[in-house]
Amino acid sequence: MKICLYLLTFAVIGAGATGVELVSEMHDFIYRILLVHGGPQIRRDEIKIVLIEAANRILPGVDENVVRTIEKKLGQKNIEVITSAPVTKVNKDSLEIGDRQIPTYTKIWTAGIKANPLSASLPFEKDGAGRIKVNQYMQVPNYPNVYAVGDNSSFENPTTGKPLPATGQVAIQEAQAVVKNILYTIKGKEKRPFKFMQLGFAVTYGERTAAARHKYE
Ligand SMILES: Cc1cc2nc3c(=O)[nH]c(=O)nc-3n(C[C@H](O)[C@H](O)[C@H](O)COP(=O)(O)OP(=O)(O)OC[C@H]3O[C@@H](n4cnc5c(N)ncnc54)[C@H](O)[C@@H]3O)c2cc1C
Repeated sequence: MKICLYLLTFAVIGAGATGVELVSEMHDFIYRILLVHGGPQIRRDEIKIVLIEAANRILPGVDENVVRTIEKKLGQKNIEVITSAPVTKVNKDSLEIGDRQIPTYTKIWTAGIKANPLSASLPFEKDGAGRIKVNQYMQVPNYPNVYAVGDNSSFENPTTGKPLPATGQVAIQEAQAVVKNILYTIKGKEKRPFKFMQLGFAVTYGERTAAARHKYE
């Protein structure tokens, strides 16, 4: 019985979009495919999927309406969500959140990324995640011919005062802005500050469904 608990508890650490999408897909794979189509003879209630988040809510930074929809869906899927719970230790057969211990052999880390070691090693100013800080033109300060874009760059959005997240739409827009500014420089024209446009986002929760927010400021 004890071994079942360890083997059949799946813990995902980090309730950003990746963590939420992962637990949802994991749930559907186990309950709608494995257990339905002649998979292992395991009782449904023996399986536990746990999503653990350090912040006080899932999907930090994401629109409240999207969060509410996702929370409801995760509840319907019986996925246990634990918030305000920074994981403090990971052991072979468990993880710890302060004094609390969750027995599990399967721990999946979706709690953030670090910059590539190569860019982190460069002699530029970095943010806490090792991403290269850039100015409004995506240039590395004091190195006007060096630009940084995408996941390895840290651009502070003047609208929010926070660095832009490491997402595809940010990387694409930054790259386009840099290309234009390089061309302006070659032509002797003035560069333009980068302005990020939020195109909206979607977070999937399995069964080919997602909660989405269209373009907004
Ligand atoms: C699981 C997951 C899900 C995601 N889902 C979304 C999503 O739904 N929407 C969204 O907008 N974003 C999503 N993202 C984020 C998105 O993938 C990244 O923000 C985006 O790919 C960043 O682009 P980039 O060009 O900066 O880096 P990357 O896409 O990582 O490209 C960097 C490239 O450089 C190569 N490279 C690394 N080191 C070297 C080296 N030394 N020399 C040469 N090449 C090197 C790498 O192999 C890679 O091909 C997701 C990320 C993950 C991990």
